Amino acid sequence: MSENTNQGVKNVQDYFGCNVFNEETMKNRLPKNVYKSLLKTKQLGIALDTDVAEVIASAMKEWAIEKGATHYTHWFHPMTGTSAEKHDSFISPTSNGKVIMEFSGKELIKGEPDASSFPSGGLRATFEARGYTAWDPTSPAFVKDGSLYIPTAFCSYTGEILDKKTPLLRSMEVLSEQAVRVLRLFGNTTTTRVTTTVGPEQEYFLVDKKLYDQRKDLILTGRTLFGAKAPKGQELEDHYFGNIKTRVSEYMKDLDEELWKLGIYSKTKHNEVAPAQHEMAPIFTTSNVAADQNALTMEIMKKVALKHGLVCLLHEKPFAGVNGSGKHNNWSMSTDDGQNLLDPGDDPKDNFQFLTFLMAVIKAVHEYSDLLRISVASAGNDHRLGANEAPPAVISMFVGDELAQILDALESGKMITENKDKEFVIGVEALPNFPKDTTDRNRTSPFAFTGNKFEFRALGSSDTISCTNYILNTIVSKELKEFADQLEGSTNFASDLNDLLVKTLKEHKQIIFNGNGYDDSWIEEAKKRGLPNYVSTVDALPHYADEKNVKMFEEFKVLTKTEIVSRMDILLENYSKIINIEALTMIDMARKQIIPAGLEFTKQLADSIVAKTSVGVNADAEKKLAEKASCLTNSILEATDVLDKTLIDSKDVTDPEANARYFRERVFADMQSLRAVVDELETITPENIWPFPTYTDLLFRV
Ligand code: ADP
Ligand code: MG
Repeated sequence: MSENTNQGVKNVQDYFGCNVFNEETMKNRLPKNVYKSLLKTKQLGIALDTDVAEVIASAMKEWAIEKGATHYTHWFHPMTGTSAEKHDSFISPTSNGKVIMEFSGKELIKGEPDASSFPSGGLRATFEARGYTAWDPTSPAFVKDGSLYIPTAFCSYTGEILDKKTPLLRSMEVLSEQAVRVLRLFGNTTTTRVTTTVGPEQEYFLVDKKLYDQRKDLILTGRTLFGAKAPKGQELEDHYFGNIKTRVSEYMKDLDEELWKLGIYSKTKHNEVAPAQHEMAPIFTTSNVAADQNALTMEIMKKVALKHGLVCLLHEKPFAGVNGSGKHNNWSMSTDDGQNLLDPGDDPKDNFQFLTFLMAVIKAVHEYSDLLRISVASAGNDHRLGANEAPPAVISMFVGDELAQILDALESGKMITENKDKEFVIGVEALPNFPKDTTDRNRTSPFAFTGNKFEFRALGSSDTISCTNYILNTIVSKELKEFADQLEGSTNFASDLNDLLVKTLKEHKQIIFNGNGYDDSWIEEAKKRGLPNYVSTVDALPHYADEKNVKMFEEFKVLTKTEIVSRMDILLENYSKIINIEALTMIDMARKQIIPAGLEFTKQLADSIVAKTSVGVNADAEKKLAEKASCLTNSILEATDVLDKTLIDSKDVTDPEANARYFRERVFADMQSLRAVVDELETITPENIWPFPTYTDLLFRV
């Protein structure tokens, strides 16, 4: 039977990465020596010769044209939060009125987009008005929508960085350098490079496009600003891992294909906890490639949805009352000879090395938990963190019972002789074979050890992962450097290392918490332990520029103080702008759609009252309803005016931090009050009068 044959089905192996200028393509299309020097650039992170670039550019152009490309673009990630692209065609006029297709090495390596309209937090105003993009040869170029996309970093001419990729690349260099130093201490003479790896799990919602189009809040802000709860939510827990509706599964299939063509290892797909919520997880890869691919994934997710008459919502909290969406950043470090440094391994000798890297991460997360919190701070994510669906805003670490036991033993200098089924001893000379059971999982912890990697779970679904990862890489580098500084030249390595690890553990174990992160008592306990609890973006962001943080970023040349302050200001302003747009959208919807609906409903009731009483029929039901609808409509009118006035007054608060705080404390509070009365009116208004689709429509009608 035809439906059981594979006829017409494309083989994934054949088309995987077909739109990527990947290593295989380069090998086939570049002269051997050029290919070799490009590989060197990629593996050793060294700069590329210009004459080599010329050859690569020409091969890339030929390949891209075969794929149907007419244009090329330097693709970069400015501080706007999305990616940016400006397309130039390959055409170049000839004397006979025709064109040839050209693309030079210079055009490949460097681009000069007009940078003045990107947010810079005042950087370019004080320095230089122009910026340039520089090719990142470690992230492959690809063809999409008729253009050759070249992944690039974005800087100003005076060297200030204006994007999210440059600090990520710098942090990867720094981490490699320090991790190799530590590896040398353990007698490793072969590793020349350590790369950080990331696998970002991506959550999203799908809603019907026709319904979406009827809601200005979804169109303008990506989330519902009004909406009474549907009679059914996620309480039956029937959606998580539930079977996938045909329409959704067709979307997922299409999505996989598009991602695979772009060389993205889309691996896992399933339904998530909330109705209409889903997840895609790729196989991990090098951090900067993972960051580029995640940005691309988010874009493709939205595009493919439209083809299916759906809209993909990446907002952290599209619907009140059901879970929002996050992104889990699975992170590890691995050597160029393939050793995962967070894998405990079987050799007891390696275990000491593992413990050293582990301790560096523990110390880093403890000392810089504020920065990790900042890396996930956004207006959207404020709806999730601490709301019993995402980890709490307090950053802590989960290591699991077995690892906790080993750390206890290390700290007390005690030899462990027994552990459930297996016997092992711990000490300087003989460390145990660590159990690798990762079934022991704690879903409430923001930063969990999951067997051979850490999973940072606090990211928002729409975040780029760059910021989290350059922070993570830099803070771990800082600790690795400290360890290496102390241990290089030690004459009694084993005992000095032991002392260092014990001391580090004693000073930083407060960050480890293996209990329930949703428990109120944990918030109290965390306070006693001195762990910061930055509940909102506005509480968190100002700490970006704390002295210890500036010192750390500057020491490793990842960001300068000026760059940190500019980033902080951009993020604060962005926060205010987002809430401003949301508030304006609410006012617009209230005045043009909701209040008229309330008035219409009351009028219909009033007409009925008049008609009924004129013939002597009791109109009590109409009177009760009319009274209620009228009161609520009036409250909505008042709450809208209050919000409007609060917004107007926000203009008087000009300092970015004070302004963001004003939006958080005043504007946001007024928005909540307005929403409460609107949602109440919705519950008594007939469906044919309510002006836009409800939660039931949006969540259950895909
Ligand atoms: P879960 O939902 O249980 O956390 P998933 O399989 O959905 O598990 O996601 C795990 C993610 O971790 C995947 O993206 C996987 O590729 C990634 N991962 C596995 N090993 C590493 C590693 N060494 N470094 C970074 N990420 C990793
Ligand atoms: Mg996970």
